Amino acid sequence: MAVQNNRLTAEEYEQRFSDIHPPFETRDAALVDANRCLFCYDAPCTKSCPTGINVPKFIKQITTDNLKGAAYTIFSSNIMGGGCAKVCPVEKLCEGACVYNLMEETAIPIARLQRYATEPAIKGQWRMFERKQRTGKKVAIIGAGPAGLSCAHALSREGVDVTIYEKEAKGGGLMTYGIAAYKVTPAFCEEEVSFITGIGGIDIRYNQELGKDILLSALQEEYDAVYLAFGVGLARQLYIPGEQLEGVVDAISFIYDIRNSGFPAVPVGDQVAVIGMGMTAIDAATQARRLGAKEVTLVYRRTQQEMPCTVAEMDIALLDGCKIIWLAAPAEIIGENGKATQLICHSVRLEEDNTGRRQPVLTDEKIVLPVDMVIKAAGQMPFEQLIYENQLHHNGGKIAVTGNGVTSINGVFAGGDCVNGGKEVVDAVQAGKEGAAAILAYLQADCHVSSSH
Ligand code: SF4
Repeated sequence: MAVQNNRLTAEEYEQRFSDIHPPFETRDAALVDANRCLFCYDAPCTKSCPTGINVPKFIKQITTDNLKGAAYTIFSSNIMGGGCAKVCPVEKLCEGACVYNLMEETAIPIARLQRYATEPAIKGQWRMFERKQRTGKKVAIIGAGPAGLSCAHALSREGVDVTIYEKEAKGGGLMTYGIAAYKVTPAFCEEEVSFITGIGGIDIRYNQELGKDILLSALQEEYDAVYLAFGVGLARQLYIPGEQLEGVVDAISFIYDIRNSGFPAVPVGDQVAVIGMGMTAIDAATQARRLGAKEVTLVYRRTQQEMPCTVAEMDIALLDGCKIIWLAAPAEIIGENGKATQLICHSVRLEEDNTGRRQPVLTDEKIVLPVDMVIKAAGQMPFEQLIYENQLHHNGGKIAVTGNGVTSINGVFAGGDCVNGGKEVVDAVQAGKEGAAAILAYLQADCHVSSSH
């Protein structure tokens, strides 16, 4: 048994991490699916999209070969509509709401059509939006992830100059560093960031971390408003014995390393246990398998009914050969010579609490899993220190906001994962739009106050 890197040939990495949702092969194939759309007047697909993309409209535009129009319809609501077409849990959102489900027929492949419309625009770096005349106002944004980029684009369209401070060397946030590489490739992420910033008026300063390289107080002085979109990032600990052993890693770092250092550089075990059943757990498990792990077992303390990932996500893991142990709660990681060798779990039964939620209750029965690697995907914690240091009001470490991202500090706004604790990319994009609207209203009010003096 060994945790090691560089297990496969370059061709094998390429093949295992290639795009999991290939695009339509031909225009005709796209048109066949687009023409199935019933263009429902109440469009449940649109209602279920957090960014409210006008789905029947863009599908109609595809049917008339108006790809530019279709792309514009999508990007007007969701500037990351290209990436979201690849990473959104559409079974829970637009495709899950499509009326074809009621007829027990296959839903319209909205994500694939969305990709069909947006990919040429991103690849070709089409200039689709013009900026209004510059207002002379300047806004600083912390974080070039989905919320930050969405906010920046919406502000730039209105003639506001934006500077984004990003702690990583690349933009895209979760999209670039936190999602399985077979869903969105690094090259696509870079193209998407360039597409968004191509509007102009958005300057991204990389390797700039809030609290280390820049301070909120300095930004407040230099800019007319500040938008905080620094996400969540710290992995939740399990607080069980053996967590410090060699071979025990957290899923956020594991996925980050794959995205940041490249496939061959990331060590993986032969027998890997992944703790959790959220999307991050699935992305870690499937990528461990694809990096060459012989056995990957997902361990979850509830059942399929309660799992946070979608069935489609779970199916990817099962098709990759991952196993799942339901109703098992990690109790201890045993090691030899400082290295993890066994994961011990309590078997669990579920009992309803007084709110009706089924809660795990430990039994005496133990499950022993031989391991050489344990990947923890038990959720993420907010960047509490940043919040305390900057004296922001918060709810358990998540920045507290009223209205559309208005924080407890005048002129400072926030949105995305640092407010909601970690949701989908599409939720962050919507938060960025709402934050921009709140900032614009604030800047306008500010203008009125200044001009009346
Ligand atoms: Fe088309 Fe389905 Fe949306 Fe109706 S619900 S407009 S059929 S995609």
